[in-house]
Amino acid sequence: MKIKAINGFKDILPDEVHRWQRIEACARDIFQRFGLREIRLPILEKTELFARSIGETTDIVEKEMYTFPDKGITMRPEATASLLRAFIEHSLHLQRPVQRLFTIGPMFRHERPQKGRLRQFHQIDAEIIGAQEPQVDAELMAMGQMLLTELGLTASLEINSLGCPDCRPDFREKLVRYLEEKEEGLCEDCRRRRTTNPLRVLDCKKATCRALVQNAPSILDSLCAPCREHFQAVQKNLDLLGVTYKLNRFMVRGLDYYTRTTFEFIASGLGAQSAVGAGGRYDGLIHQLGGPGLPGIGFAMGMERLVLLMESTDSEQQALDREIDIFAAALGQEAMEFATPLIHALRKLSVRAAMDYSGRSLKAQMKQAGRLNAAYTLIIGEQELAEKKAILRNMDTQEQTSFSLEGDTKELAGILAKTCMETARSES
Ligand code: ATP
Ligand code: MG
Repeated sequence: MKIKAINGFKDILPDEVHRWQRIEACARDIFQRFGLREIRLPILEKTELFARSIGETTDIVEKEMYTFPDKGITMRPEATASLLRAFIEHSLHLQRPVQRLFTIGPMFRHERPQKGRLRQFHQIDAEIIGAQEPQVDAELMAMGQMLLTELGLTASLEINSLGCPDCRPDFREKLVRYLEEKEEGLCEDCRRRRTTNPLRVLDCKKATCRALVQNAPSILDSLCAPCREHFQAVQKNLDLLGVTYKLNRFMVRGLDYYTRTTFEFIASGLGAQSAVGAGGRYDGLIHQLGGPGLPGIGFAMGMERLVLLMESTDSEQQALDREIDIFAAALGQEAMEFATPLIHALRKLSVRAAMDYSGRSLKAQMKQAGRLNAAYTLIIGEQELAEKKAILRNMDTQEQTSFSLEGDTKELAGILAKTCMETARSES
């Protein structure tokens, strides 16, 4: 019986991994420009943390968490709750008044797997804690936009405000009243949400529900004065930064902790899973989790969706990656014993070097060098060894030169390393 990976859990194979590395490197680079520092967090947390932050009546907590009930622990479905738990636990606000943090890693949700939706997926998560100014909201969104742009991707930014505990209850009531009249036409989920989590109805993906809420009251009309001013200032600052955006009054987000600004980066070409990233402000959450009364804002990008987008926009065939600088094709026992320490010495000099120990034919070894896209192959047979002259073949130009084997391993490695470095430099 063959054992396969669990449904919704995916291997990231060596041929795909360069995209993941590129995304991570790009995120680290850009986030640093914005003053964010990395934090690494555990994957398991107490179940209560998610129930209290994300919300008992959200889809995530109600039905999507991987929980070990006997142990009271859960595999994190998102990063913000864990990050804030760590922030509070270590009193990070005492170190600096505004903490700018990011984390990268796997998240777990028991959802129906499909394109761009997995049960183990990966997020890049950025959070700014301790600042309530609308400039920060705009700055964070601009940072997300910069990441997408530098990855060569296009996504549109949609924004909304969810108000605050002062103005949202009013809106909620208005909405409940509106939905009461429309109950008949709502899907089963939304009939339940209508009382437990009515704002979520606005966000339902079903066409019938979408049509029904078109004339629902808009939260943007219900904002209290401070929330309205904040949201206006966010828009002004997005303009200042040259970030284009669209208002979307139906955007609600599936986590209860959001206040004021919420946003999503929407890409075309991902089908139903069109959100590559999403986030918002959570001004009451840190206090709610037992920490100081500090505001915060953050977003998470879905790495699987970024990868899908990169694949769909990589128009020209990716140039074959150079995996190896030099491959030693050694023929016979003696040549092999000559080449083995030479390869090791090259690796010490930061050269990507390889050889084959199986005693295959020259033809087979050349094929192997080609598969690795080696820049050079050093061919050493019995005759070459006797004459102290190997053949150095440039695999791109197919030009062959004689390479003197006079000198010790270290000297020979030094000369070869120099050749390889020069070639690598001229290529980049
Ligand atoms: P969706 O609308 O796809 O359900 P969400 O609102 O649940 O997303 P968040 O919890 O805000 O998403 O997570 C932020 C980002 O993480 C999403 O925009 C998406 O790119 C990614 N993401 C969320 N859930 C998954 C999943 N199951 N598989 C892959 N990526 C996901
Ligand atoms: Mg979801």
